[in-house]
Amino acid sequence: MSKTTYLSKTKYCMGIQCPKMLWLDENKPEVGEKVLLETVMANGNLVGDLARSYFGEYSLVDFSYIKSEMTEKTKEFIDSGCENIAEAAFLYDGLYCAVDILHKNSDGWDIIEVKSSTHLTEIYIEDMAFQYYLLRKCGLDIRRVFNMHLNSAYVRHGKLDLKGLFVLEDCTDTVTAKSDSVKHNIAKIQNYVSVSEEPVRDIGLYCENPYECAYRKYCGKHIPEHSVFDLAGMFAKTKYKHYHNGIISYEDILNNAKAIKLNAKHRRQIESILFGRPDEINTVNIKAFLDTLSYPVYHLDFETFQHAVPEFEGERPYMQIPFQYSLHIEQEDGSLEHCEFLGKEGADPRRALAEQLVKDIPVGVCSLAYNMSFEKNVIKNLAELFPDLSEHLMDIHDNMHDLMIPFKDQDYYSAAMNGSYSIKYVLPALYPDDPELDYHNLDGVHNGSEASAAFAGMPSHTPEEIAEIRSNLMKYCGLDTYAMVKVLRKLKEAAGR
Ligand code: SF4
Repeated sequence: MSKTTYLSKTKYCMGIQCPKMLWLDENKPEVGEKVLLETVMANGNLVGDLARSYFGEYSLVDFSYIKSEMTEKTKEFIDSGCENIAEAAFLYDGLYCAVDILHKNSDGWDIIEVKSSTHLTEIYIEDMAFQYYLLRKCGLDIRRVFNMHLNSAYVRHGKLDLKGLFVLEDCTDTVTAKSDSVKHNIAKIQNYVSVSEEPVRDIGLYCENPYECAYRKYCGKHIPEHSVFDLAGMFAKTKYKHYHNGIISYEDILNNAKAIKLNAKHRRQIESILFGRPDEINTVNIKAFLDTLSYPVYHLDFETFQHAVPEFEGERPYMQIPFQYSLHIEQEDGSLEHCEFLGKEGADPRRALAEQLVKDIPVGVCSLAYNMSFEKNVIKNLAELFPDLSEHLMDIHDNMHDLMIPFKDQDYYSAAMNGSYSIKYVLPALYPDDPELDYHNLDGVHNGSEASAAFAGMPSHTPEEIAEIRSNLMKYCGLDTYAMVKVLRKLKEAAGR
């Protein structure tokens, strides 16, 4: 690491997870993939900004690329008696950190590390231990170290209550217990990063934990197309154990089937690909599933967004807020009617959505969702929020069936599903090369994350752009339920109906 490149708390945590990640970040960032989503970053910034007011008035150290300007400003604030300093910056012997909140008490300073998550994790402890080490080296008397994160149980009623929204966890004991290891880790990371030749390091569980590494594809380029990492529903720990034992390709796995106690589902996943097996269909179970449905069938799909900081009445951090749905109503003869709802940009969409939903889906009918626990949860939240609509909403909830079941149970299995029962695998497996069902052919919105981001970003667009985004959103969500209609059709064909 060059003299002008400081080891920051982010880099330190990266080096703790895997020093090669930091080396690549410093020397070959172009081989990595973008992992952090814009909405995640926006949530983090919003939470960080709000948290600054937790202790009342504060002084902010403005960001500067010249770190010494930030440390001088920090010193100024400390010397002038400020009690709360946001982004308090410190430099010591090639190390740098900006503390989210530095809070003064009668007997010393408290370090407050703010996170937009809803719980404390081990890597946050490392982060705080680095700050504690550095601030003490800079001569600060540190009293306690806290992690401040969102309270998942907080429900917004009226004005935002910061004391209810945030949880302050005292981590002083665990952080101070790490003091000795921080010095050792810093030396190790700085040595590792200082070499000019790319270090050799095999992939391991640390590629996924605590964060998914942006260089996973680059470091795993020796992994064959179908490998142990594709086995559905297997713990990452087990996958890496097999990998380190040289059991990597599907052929390796079959050759070691007995030793690794290969289960029937994994055997099916592997053999259907290696031996090109035709679709496996259990007509008895599929007929039994179809018999649970009654016509007309209401194919339903919601799109939702999440706020880290609740904006609406009755909202919790990261609660799924529905802003759109698509509904295909299918009669027994296969004829279709389509209804949809898309909330108005910049406003709470839930009341209008709930009112429209109970108009579109009558009491007592059969509704169908793919992975219904998501749709059911959204409806239950709406029912809790709107008692006057609760009975009708819970009727929809209680009469819902899950189209995913025959695929989850592998009563209909195609090699192309590669062990997955996600509709993103099931649909192209059932309808390969069908442009009508190909999400790639849509404009602007191709998946749920893009839909959430498109809706959230609408208020900043012109009316013409908003009209286009709304059209893209409706086409996307409409395809979700049309895809369900087509999936159900395949099941009916398989059952001879
Ligand atoms: S993919 Fe794994 S080995 Fe490669 S840099 Fe990332 S964490 Fe390290």
